[in-house]
Amino acid sequence: MTVTRFLSQHYLLREAAKDGVVLQVTCQCCWKRANYLATDLARLLGGDRPVVWPPFDCSGCGNDRYVKVKVHHPEPGDYGSMRIRRPGPVKMIQTWQVVSLGD
Ligand SMILES: [Zn+2]
Repeated sequence: MTVTRFLSQHYLLREAAKDGVVLQVTCQCCWKRANYLATDLARLLGGDRPVVWPPFDCSGCGNDRYVKVKVHHPEPGDYGSMRIRRPGPVKMIQTWQVVSLGD
C-alpha cells in the first residue's frame, strides 16, 4: 500500500532517513516536482530539520513559498522505475576579484 501523507512539523529528516522514505517535493505555483531520498537531504541539509520545510527554492519560481513536501514509502514496484534526484558531482567555480598589485 502506498502511504503518502502531509507531514507534521515534528517529523525530522533524520527520522525520515531511518525510515528510508522518498520525499516528493512539489511547487504548487508552477507544478515543478522532484523526488529526493530523505537520506540525501539529511546529509546535505542536516538531520534536525523538519521534513515539511521546503529543502530548496523552486527553480522555476525562485522561492519556496509554494513548495510542499510529502512522504512516500517506496514499494517494490518503485525500485527501478521511480525517478529520484540524487547529488551529482560537486563543481568548483573559479571566481575573479580585483586587488592591488602586490596583494
Ligand atoms: Zn515553482
